[in-house]
Amino acid sequence: MKTQECPRCANPARLSKRTFSDQALAALIVWNDLTENLIDESICEDCYSELRDILIERIEEVKAVKPRTFNRAS
Ligand SMILES: [Zn+2]
Repeated sequence: MKTQECPRCANPARLSKRTFSDQALAALIVWNDLTENLIDESICEDCYSELRDILIERIEEVKAVKPRTFNRAS
C-alpha cells in the first residue's frame, strides 16, 4: 500500500478515514487542532492518535463546546 502525504501534518503516511462525533469535531476546530476543510479527509495514524488523546484529556471541555452539525460526504 503506498503512502500519501497527510493533509494535516504533511508527513508521508498511510491515510485512512477517521470518524469523530460532531461534538468532537466542533471542539477540535475551536481549539485549532483540526481545520474545517479536513473533517471529511483521510489522515494518518499519528494525527488520529494525537486528536484522540486531546479529546480524552479534554473530555469535560468537549462537552462544553457548542454542538455543530457538519456536512459530510456520505
Ligand atoms: Zn498526519
